[in-house]
Amino acid sequence: MNKKEKEKYKKLLIKEKIRILEAMGALQKDSLELSQAEGENHGVPTHLAELASDNFEKNLDLNLTSSEGKLLTEINNALAKLVSGRSNQGSFGICEKCQGKISQKRLRALPYARFCITCQRSRETTE
Ligand SMILES: [Zn+2]
Repeated sequence: MNKKEKEKYKKLLIKEKIRILEAMGALQKDSLELSQAEGENHGVPTHLAELASDNFEKNLDLNLTSSEGKLLTEINNALAKLVSGRSNQGSFGICEKCQGKISQKRLRALPYARFCITCQRSRETTE
């Protein structure tokens, strides 16, 4: 995956993160409008880069056991993979189970996907 593609997924993840933080009541609506006003050719502005770090939530009292909270954790994991290149969960876009590539189509729909479609399906049938 090239740098441009990584930036694209980073933006998708941050957008999704903002949406969830709003749903959890942690962010005001203005911040989303601000991020949408950013053109495609611009980099991620500082306040959004801040959102990409996992320090951000530490000051917020969020219920991480809620469905939104779990999703937020998934997004943070994916962002950690993107930002650091690697995390202990593996690399971004690589299935955590079979180490195969997760398709771009799947990542576009679900940028925080941890498994390829095959592994996801086998998990769903065994769980
Ligand atoms: Zn897999």
